Amino acid sequence: AEANPAFDTTIHRRHTRPVKVGSVTIGGGHPVVVQSMINEDTLDIDGSAAAIRRLHEIGCEIVRVTVPSMAHAKAIAEIKQKLSASYQAVPLVADVHHNGMKIALEVAKHVDKVRINPGLYVFEKPSPTRSEYTQSEFEEIGEKIRQTLEPLVITLRDQGKAMRIGVNHGSLAERMLFTYGDTPEGMVESALEFIRICESLDYRNLVISLKASRVPVMLAAYRLMVQRMNESGMDYPLHLGVTEAGDGEYGRIKSTAGIATLLAEGIGDTIRVSLTEAPEKEIPVCYSILQALGLRKTMVEYVACPSCGRTLFNLEEVLHKVRAATQHLTGLDIAVMGCIVNGPGEMADADYGYVGKQPGYISLYRGREEIKRVPEDQGVAELINLIKADDRWVDP
Ligand code: SF4
Repeated sequence: AEANPAFDTTIHRRHTRPVKVGSVTIGGGHPVVVQSMINEDTLDIDGSAAAIRRLHEIGCEIVRVTVPSMAHAKAIAEIKQKLSASYQAVPLVADVHHNGMKIALEVAKHVDKVRINPGLYVFEKPSPTRSEYTQSEFEEIGEKIRQTLEPLVITLRDQGKAMRIGVNHGSLAERMLFTYGDTPEGMVESALEFIRICESLDYRNLVISLKASRVPVMLAAYRLMVQRMNESGMDYPLHLGVTEAGDGEYGRIKSTAGIATLLAEGIGDTIRVSLTEAPEKEIPVCYSILQALGLRKTMVEYVACPSCGRTLFNLEEVLHKVRAATQHLTGLDIAVMGCIVNGPGEMADADYGYVGKQPGYISLYRGREEIKRVPEDQGVAELINLIKADDRWVDP
């Protein structure tokens, strides 16, 4: 019998080509890659090298560095030298913030990927009286872009390096704005123009992003991009992010709303959560998004009830204790439930359960099977014993 698609709980990721960024591959069915960006001045060689190390140590798989000038481009060579041998494998991406081709060509020697922003390739002076571009003006500028971009494309192609075409809603070129409006379509057309230039030079190590600070705009842009790529037989991986998401709880929720929505639709091969906080704070958010969607499992999955009037112990406190004792056991699912009123199935088939049974006592479960009832103050220690008895324990 044919499987009922209504019962299909797997995310079917969009088919994309693999793009190598140093030792990491984006797309091609590889796990969604987590990345971030240091906020040190690239001219601060020691500070930048330390920041790259810090990010890498907590799981950032690709690190981006800003390159606003030629001095910054040269500084990246020194940063690479500073990084000890074990860190030299961290793929680095240079963010080139304008169409300074000399800078891009210099930095391309030292990094694994160059990010360019099509909106910054402008050759026309903004004029307050102008409100449109004729077809020939539009094409003329397109030709200038092609000529400017060509040496970088060739250099990256010949070195087997990658490029991100990173469109930002907030910095679309004027001719795109006038022709397509301040819209997802303008963003997608911007990216497509650059993709076509790269393809004409037989260069396809491309990753595309279409970030916006408003989630609905970002969602529409990525979805339209996928549609247009499908129509054109393009299979480039996508880098997802919500720009200027801010900080704190809302910054995390806003980023998640955009990134997770697309990932759940199978769209997205690498993600960055942009927070107005230390870059290290972005990495756990990325991994939590991926874990929640079942795309990557990098930590213990805790299933816990919200507690209610039936709760037989201090659930918040116990969850903290259980987490403190077990959070290093990657790969396990552990449930902490105030009671078992509706049966063990509510523990979502966790590997282990810690469940309120009667005042002062809790029950420990292995899967759906109740293993033993113990006084509450011995609960965490007995849970550890049970995990040890199953040979699933490792010391922290
Ligand atoms: Fe309340 Fe029990 Fe449900 Fe927890 S599992 S919320 S204690 S009824």
